[in-house]
Amino acid sequence: MPTKKSTKNKEEKSTPAKSQKPMESTEDDVDEKEKKVKGAPTLLRGFRDILPEEQGRWNMIRDAIRDIAEAYTFDRIDLPILERSDLFLRTIGKGTDIVDKEMYVFTDPSNRSVALRPEATASAARAYVNHGMLDRPQPVKLWYMGPMFRHDRPQAGRYRQFYQAGFESFGVDEPIVDAQLIVLGLQILKDLGLDVKVQINSIGTFECRQAYLAELVAYFRQHRSKLCEEDKKRLQKNPLRLLDSKDPATVELLDGAPQILDWLDDKSKEHFMKVLEFMEEIEVPFELNPYLVRGLDYYTHTVFEFVLAGGDGEKSQNALGGGGRYDGLVELLGGRPTPACGFALGIERIARALLDAGIDPPQRPQPAVFFAQLGDASRRVGLKLFEEFRQAGIPMAEAFGKNALKGQLEAANKLGVQLTLILGQKEVLDETIIIRDMESGAQEIVDVKKVVALVQKKLHSDEGVAPNTQAPISDIK
Ligand code: AMP
Repeated sequence: MPTKKSTKNKEEKSTPAKSQKPMESTEDDVDEKEKKVKGAPTLLRGFRDILPEEQGRWNMIRDAIRDIAEAYTFDRIDLPILERSDLFLRTIGKGTDIVDKEMYVFTDPSNRSVALRPEATASAARAYVNHGMLDRPQPVKLWYMGPMFRHDRPQAGRYRQFYQAGFESFGVDEPIVDAQLIVLGLQILKDLGLDVKVQINSIGTFECRQAYLAELVAYFRQHRSKLCEEDKKRLQKNPLRLLDSKDPATVELLDGAPQILDWLDDKSKEHFMKVLEFMEEIEVPFELNPYLVRGLDYYTHTVFEFVLAGGDGEKSQNALGGGGRYDGLVELLGGRPTPACGFALGIERIARALLDAGIDPPQRPQPAVFFAQLGDASRRVGLKLFEEFRQAGIPMAEAFGKNALKGQLEAANKLGVQLTLILGQKEVLDETIIIRDMESGAQEIVDVKKVVALVQKKLHSDEGVAPNTQAPISDIK
């Protein structure tokens, strides 16, 4: 279980880039640090190292995801990071921010246009078609975890390489699938100790959306002069995105805008109502958000996002994850018509939320035994002993790099180990080893071949070291 602490770790108070300059600017890619650290290569802007001190929290997240994936019988799939760029153009769609502005597209040495994946649903659907998964028992339930790449403007919670864990369920169009995926995502976040809710909407089928879009465009055209430049472009290229615009003028106009829920056909309405009923049934905290559309073309029917309850979750960059139904995607990629639904969680955002909530990973168990050596012959025995203890399930600490016994005992004390094994030259010759009880200072000389079993017994019995066999440290040569 994660532990909740009031004090925050010093780790990863990452300083998001403050610059809000447009991405096209070349200056934008010159990190402040890049200017300062002369000589040493630095990270590209929007990329980051996940340092050892962050790994405890990341492992906690990875474990929670894996546990839930297994409990809900999803099968792991690993998908390539590099794909033909066409895969994303066809699925996410031209006119979307991801494809138009954020894709890392380049020509590979074989003169093919390739892209670093900006998300993995399209790749999962490609794999489903490529490997004939339609012929397997449906639903085919897949999960993945790995890095995604979007050349977005770096800011708090937005990186150019970030990690997602995704869940995709292919082959069943029942609303229960949507509901179960939502529960699954919520459960991961709840297991981690986060207080979250779901924002949900339906964007219907492609057909009913067309009629709605015509109405939406007509409405915003009347108010075109009030729109910012970005939203004017959206009106032309991807009008649905006007619904989640952050521009205050557009947000104000939304009050009078037509709402997609009023344009859903009967089947779409029924599907959505059933999803909501399931969620009510199992008391999932959800909020209807008529402006939630998600930025990708392939979604149909249910769309949803996970946000922190109580936080300023309305801002989409605070979403911990999101997804929806994409009934047309497999067909779009040349497969037979296949309903599907899925979502992805952003690992950095979850790690950040845990840090902000003061939720710390469980401490790694500290070794109870330390091995102190004197000289090379004793180091050689130490290497072997280290492995014997590992195989016996007793983690052992060492300071092979130190020479003096004093320094090694200080290191052992710092670690708070229960026992230290001391091997001097004499003991190597005698094939013995000293076991020192760190609390009482009592020492015992034992047969080196029996030391693993003896230590195991002492650690489990609390019996300590027999006091009558003390050997002064100064005797050890
Ligand atoms: P999306 O499908 O684009 O909504 O992404 C799903 C989740 O991935 C989001 O809710 C975020 O948690 C995370 N995410 C998306 N883009 C980024 C990014 N540039 N940096 C960090 N996390 C991201």
